[in-house]
Amino acid sequence: MQPLPIDSYLHEILDAVRGHPIVVVEAPPGSGKTTRVAPSLLEMISQSGTSGRIYLLQPRRLAARSVAERIAQESASTIGERIGYQVRFDHQISRNTQLIVATEGILLRRLQSDPALEDVSIVLLDEFHERSLDADLLLGMLRRVQDTVREDLRIVIMSATLDIDLIRESLGEIPIIRIESRTFPVRNLYKPMNPRDRMVDHLVRVVSDSVQQYEGDILAFLPGAGEIHRAAEELNRTSVARDCDVLPLYGAMTLEEQSRVVQTGPRRKVVLATNIAETSLTIEGVRVVVDSGQARVMRFTPDVGLDRLCLESISQASATQRAGRAGRVAPGTCIRLWSEAADRAKAAHLEPEIRRLDLCSAALQLYAWGEGESEDFPWLEKPREDAWAAAKKLLECLGAISHGKITPIGIQMSQLPIHPRLARMVLDAAERGCLSRSALLAAMLAERDPFDRREQRDRSPSIHTKHTSKWFSDCMERLLILESALHRQPFESPFGELNFSALRTIASAAEQISTQTRSLLERDRAHDCDQNTAPEAILQSLLAGFPDRLARRRQAGKSNGLMVGGKGVSLHPQSGVLEPEFFLCIEMDGGKGSDAIVRQASGVEVDWILDKLVTSEECFFHPSQKQVVARKQTRWLDLVLQETPTAISDNAKAKAILMQGVRQYWDQAYPKDDESLCGFIERVRCLREWMPELELPEIGLPLLEEVAEELCDGRRSLSEIRNAPWLDWLRAKLTPEQLQAIEREAPARIQVPSGSQIKIEYEQGKPPVLAVKIQEVFSWRATPRIARGRVPLLLHLLSPAMRPQQITDDLASFWANGYPEVKKELKRRYPKHSWPDDPANAEPGRK
Ligand code: ADP
Ligand code: MG
Repeated sequence: MQPLPIDSYLHEILDAVRGHPIVVVEAPPGSGKTTRVAPSLLEMISQSGTSGRIYLLQPRRLAARSVAERIAQESASTIGERIGYQVRFDHQISRNTQLIVATEGILLRRLQSDPALEDVSIVLLDEFHERSLDADLLLGMLRRVQDTVREDLRIVIMSATLDIDLIRESLGEIPIIRIESRTFPVRNLYKPMNPRDRMVDHLVRVVSDSVQQYEGDILAFLPGAGEIHRAAEELNRTSVARDCDVLPLYGAMTLEEQSRVVQTGPRRKVVLATNIAETSLTIEGVRVVVDSGQARVMRFTPDVGLDRLCLESISQASATQRAGRAGRVAPGTCIRLWSEAADRAKAAHLEPEIRRLDLCSAALQLYAWGEGESEDFPWLEKPREDAWAAAKKLLECLGAISHGKITPIGIQMSQLPIHPRLARMVLDAAERGCLSRSALLAAMLAERDPFDRREQRDRSPSIHTKHTSKWFSDCMERLLILESALHRQPFESPFGELNFSALRTIASAAEQISTQTRSLLERDRAHDCDQNTAPEAILQSLLAGFPDRLARRRQAGKSNGLMVGGKGVSLHPQSGVLEPEFFLCIEMDGGKGSDAIVRQASGVEVDWILDKLVTSEECFFHPSQKQVVARKQTRWLDLVLQETPTAISDNAKAKAILMQGVRQYWDQAYPKDDESLCGFIERVRCLREWMPELELPEIGLPLLEEVAEELCDGRRSLSEIRNAPWLDWLRAKLTPEQLQAIEREAPARIQVPSGSQIKIEYEQGKPPVLAVKIQEVFSWRATPRIARGRVPLLLHLLSPAMRPQQITDDLASFWANGYPEVKKELKRRYPKHSWPDDPANAEPGRK
């Protein structure tokens, strides 16, 4: 065996594992973590005479297979014997297999049915720096297992780089075995691209120059397969192709294709790779790295409710890793296609998946585990609360959980290795008797798109404009093409060329899904899952998995609609779902504008959902009509299918809603220019001060609102409230004795000597005012008083022309002192009026 840096540390690692429940191994890529640690642990176990399997967990399915093959090769055994692998939809293991290379999801699901992991002695989490969601979840669950039933279980965390602080904070003082990288220095050069340039063109130029300028193999990092193929095409047209092999390398390639790239050959290599070559695959002989600085990263996009691949700038940590790939065999060079300034602006690390991906599957697993609502689950890093809440909401909507607990259907869903949506769909299809077809559909949606979009894009648009789907479903059209291809029947694809390798993967995944579902259901009852071949059955079960994706077309013939949750959607020009009013948005893109773009839609007939529609009466205060209105709504979740105005049936509810409107628009509800109302209020307010012993209530906003509330009974609009008999209802708040006292002690009017009933003006905090012509009060000797004689009226004595001549609250003194002067003056101007010398004893008159 080829000597590797890790070899001399294996003793130390084995010792640590013997003595500690959790051990961390940090070593640079290519040290031999993946291929050497697990086999030597296996050796240790068999030497100690104990038994127990080892799980070596990888974040990627393809890696699991190739790692198993490499380990088997190095230990000269056949795959599937002592060493095997198991990934979703594929495995090679037997009774004798002691080292299982698997993806994290495999062990996650196993834990659900075998929480003590009876026959497992060691679990290795490889590539832990990638912090896959499954790895985070699994680590928490394994720690629970250690703490409760399996003290002897060992966990080994293996990683190329480590956030030591985070590990220490969460896991405490555990042994960390670090292997320093024995790499050569790498010089970083910055060749930023012109903003007008296309990244691929710039990269191709830099790669061509590097072939001339430097020695050794070249490794270029690009964001994805699309860019890689474009760059490869360009490079193959240049002289580079004469001297070198131009080799693409990305995750979706087959294992054979990948190993051809990794193995050393006679010719110089230019490898064009995604970040798969960052840490998990090592290419010997690389002396130059050309780094585009970009990567496609899965991110949860809340407005679509989906994980999407987003093109992003890589982090500093990942730029360092990439550069390091140039220094494995000799000093190297890394050419970065960005500026040094941009370098400083890069984030230090990429956020772990738990902070950026859809948490629905993870949440379902945790609910099945019994800790869905647990506050103290030992997360390395807690998931984001909003994302967790969204996941929980979707699980509720799918019927997987209810009142914080997993449901029977939820348990079944958690056992299928597909997204909870697809699991729900497949289980529903099994009920309807169309399991196999639905499994194929699920596999198509879960796996890589088998239709080549690149080819689609390059075609002239006329080829695929406006085909109408016979089944009103893009999903169904695709499914039919897959089925034809699988049965070797002719087909025509409007979705781009069918990739047969992707089709094979889908077909075998479908097989697994359908087998697993069948065995899941047969545990409960014998059930014929495949007696129904009607396409409608499939389309209906789509609804079970995507209930929150129902949309309603805004207008017949238009391609846009409104989806549950109030999100606007727009059908992709390629969608054939042109007619149905209702459709499910199965595959969505964020879209540029406000609408999300629907790439795959599937029509829904109203008949299918009739029995699940909710009809409710909605009663609310209409903000522009300023009144309570009621509407009858028929809804699917929050999507309104029909709305009709209706009579208000619930009077108490209408009253409460109107009162809310009254409070909100108080100025428009309260009749502040109603004189009798306002006059009465002022009288009460004044008298309350003058005669506290009457215990009159304070008439402020609280009391007036109380009155308003009573007035709302049976009324519907603000204008009705404004015109309502406020005074009557306000008076009703007082006792008869109080009302009598008010009439007596703070009368609205007073009879003056002339016989007229004159109004008294009340205003809180001021004396009461009586404005009256002088002649009318002749014979009054003194100022009249109210409030049981406590308060004199303030007399405004008026001339015959109603102009105030004197203001006084002491009439006797006025008669004696002021009157003679006033009389002289007024007698001249109004000679016809009476101006007696002794007004206190004169006859009053109205003139
Ligand atoms: P690590 O996990 O520390 O990155 P690996 O155990 O994956 O390291 O690889 C250690 C070394 O073994 C690599 O440098 C590589 O040269 C070699 N190697 C690993 N897998 C293969 C393979 N499939 N074919 C050839 N060489 C391999
Ligand atoms: Mg590795």
